[in-house]
Amino acid sequence: MGKVRGAPLRSMGMKSFFNWSGGLKRAVRLIAFVLAAFALASLCGCSRGGDVVVDISGTESATASPTAEAAPVLTEEPTADPTAEPTDEPTESPVAEPTEAVQPAQSGRKVYLTFDDGPTKATPEVLDILKRYNAKATFFTVGRMVKANPDTAKRILDEGHVLGCHTQTHDFNKIYKSPQAFVSDVDDWRETVKNVVGYDAGAYVYRFPGGSNNASVGGKKGRGAYVAAMNEHGYYTFDWNLALNDAWLAGNKDHLPVKEYLWNSYLETYSWYKNVDPLILIIHDTRPESVELLPQVLDDLVAKGFTFGLCTELDGDYLM
Ligand SMILES: [Zn+2]
Repeated sequence: MGKVRGAPLRSMGMKSFFNWSGGLKRAVRLIAFVLAAFALASLCGCSRGGDVVVDISGTESATASPTAEAAPVLTEEPTADPTAEPTDEPTESPVAEPTEAVQPAQSGRKVYLTFDDGPTKATPEVLDILKRYNAKATFFTVGRMVKANPDTAKRILDEGHVLGCHTQTHDFNKIYKSPQAFVSDVDDWRETVKNVVGYDAGAYVYRFPGGSNNASVGGKKGRGAYVAAMNEHGYYTFDWNLALNDAWLAGNKDHLPVKEYLWNSYLETYSWYKNVDPLILIIHDTRPESVELLPQVLDDLVAKGFTFGLCTELDGDYLM
């Protein structure tokens, strides 16, 4: 996205600038050149620091989403305490409105509930709620959080949910150095899970911290190498299309109460993707408001006729 912007524009500007004659014209041209340089710098900053906008049609678009301009910065400071919950935000990309017709839904609708960044102290309550609804979910867990909350990690498995991978460290600076660095961190997660809960199925589902389109991966162009390396390693990736935006409170422009913002985000993304199959909802079991809102979301999905599926039931990768 950003790779051809810099040099051609700059060299073209320099050439025409030095060919000009006349003081006034030169001054006007200088101002235009400076403005162009600022515009270029801000575009490059956006593509490096912000998220690549996602849409399900496979086309990138800077205007696809009303939230695109405020896409989150995907940098994450490593926490000093290795057992600290990854409460930092924003880390996940907001869902973008689809720009084209999407794959029609199959009959017998399922929604795939996914919980990221745990297990945390809030996860037992999530498990209690899921039990009440007889709903199964996929937990994309962080290895260091599994280590910090071993009983909850065991409970996830014991109650029939999927213990998926969300890397060992969730540290963007570490995992997105290269596909090999990513795989290595995932191996650490696998080792942790094996040691802590004795689980080692040999084939797994995982989710990229920040989503597969995130800027640290290099967006849709860069992610292919990561996905291929992980496929070879026996892992399939799952992005999402429904979201509470609970890792992206920067999107709460109207300063609504957090729960109201999360609920509106859920309704909005549902309105965009309701005809998509599969429907995958991302929630963070790090945020108390999300846990408080969970029964309301499940009531709504049940009322709409959905049942709940596990990502392991789906074939292959799901990339937004
Ligand atoms: Zn995450």
